[in-house]
Amino acid sequence: MDLNLENISPEEMEELKQTVFLTTLEELKAWARSNSIWPMTFGLACCAIEMMGVGSSHYDLDRFGSFFRTSPRQSDCMIVSGTVTKKMAPVLKRLYDQMPEPKWVIAMGSCATAGGPYIKSYSVVKGVDQIVPVDVYIPGCPPNPAALIYGINKLREKIRYEAKTGKKVI
Ligand code: SF4
Repeated sequence: MDLNLENISPEEMEELKQTVFLTTLEELKAWARSNSIWPMTFGLACCAIEMMGVGSSHYDLDRFGSFFRTSPRQSDCMIVSGTVTKKMAPVLKRLYDQMPEPKWVIAMGSCATAGGPYIKSYSVVKGVDQIVPVDVYIPGCPPNPAALIYGINKLREKIRYEAKTGKKVI
């Protein structure tokens, strides 16, 4: 077979473009990971009700390859939905540490993002990013399931972009 692309006809070049796909292993892994995010539920308060909504037939999160897991060992994304109290913080960190790499965190709602309505409370952590690194913040009190799906799609974009460019998005 002649692999010299200079001698190739326009028709053959067009056929090559439609049949040959070049990528890197990192991009291929990111593509697979971004299409199979398995979130670990971390429902802590009212936002958790909206998080549960994405699993319903109406919002159908499964179509993105995402299935909720109850074990950190089977999860690569932690969705923190609700108020993080100081009493709960060490538990959250421990479960995060038990998740295998690579892993991501979504802070869902204003409580998980910055303390929400309890920002002046002595017992509430003012944002889960004080305990674990957060990749996507979703504003709202509470954000609806569509907002969570939007956030998950942003995470999918981020995973693929970081693999393509080698740059960490913060
Ligand atoms: S952000 Fe609002 S809805 Fe969500 S957990 Fe806090 S108080 Fe509840």
